[in-house]
Amino acid sequence: MEAPIGGTRGSPAFIDSHSHLAMPDFADDLPRVLERGAEAGLTDVLTASTSLEDAALNAGLARPEGTPRVWAAVGVHPHQARTWTQGDDARLEALARRPGVVAIGETGLDYHYDLSPRETQREVLARQVRLAARLDLPIIVHCREAAQDVGAILEKEGGRVSGGVLHCFTEDEPFARRCLDLGFYISFSGILTFKSSAALREVARIIPEDRLLIETDSPYLAPVPHRGERNEPRRAAVVLEALARIRGVPPAAIAGAVVRNFLAFISRRKS
Ligand SMILES: [Zn+2]
Ligand SMILES: [Zn+2]
Repeated sequence: MEAPIGGTRGSPAFIDSHSHLAMPDFADDLPRVLERGAEAGLTDVLTASTSLEDAALNAGLARPEGTPRVWAAVGVHPHQARTWTQGDDARLEALARRPGVVAIGETGLDYHYDLSPRETQREVLARQVRLAARLDLPIIVHCREAAQDVGAILEKEGGRVSGGVLHCFTEDEPFARRCLDLGFYISFSGILTFKSSAALREVARIIPEDRLLIETDSPYLAPVPHRGERNEPRRAAVVLEALARIRGVPPAAIAGAVVRNFLAFISRRKS
């Protein structure tokens, strides 16, 4: 199937499955950032949350009718897990029911920075997996140096029911296969373009085409040759090109798959 043409310069249409558009980095020029994305071929962008306050902002940014279409995910990042209080399940559920919210996230475990106690991270992840399964929404999972515990919690708490994505994937092939077995997508970021990412590029080669997603994680993680700059959703095209090179296929072929996968990913939303 031919990939649709999205950009004004005839480039293939593409998506950004994970960014943080409510961050102060975009406060001055978000409309222009989105416009530049659309000009480059960006059809859809998902803005992910890190805390309940951030989730309310992101839900407010959702524009399912926009160009590009902006979708939101609401959730609490492992760094913020220590802020979780009684009643946050209900607050998160209310945010998840707002228009344009298509997923729970980001949530997960980060044993690299350990900004919240690990026990708390695990509990807050488990609660969000259960909520996602109950609401029939996919979950967006952040995993850093915590693959065994993330896998165990997804398997135990309903990850097979919710489905979802391992975002900004940096773990190894056995963990990727464990997530694929749960029905998850695997999303690659600009880290694919870093010189030090040879092992990750090998993982990117073996993920089935119908499970691939791409993302920027903007404003973070600008890809080579833009490192040090503020990242933005149009740079997902750089990730797309890197992925195509790694897999030895034309960018348009990967673009078509990634757009289809993203539309399937967000389609669980009933209204
Ligand atoms: Zn993350
Ligand atoms: Zn993120």
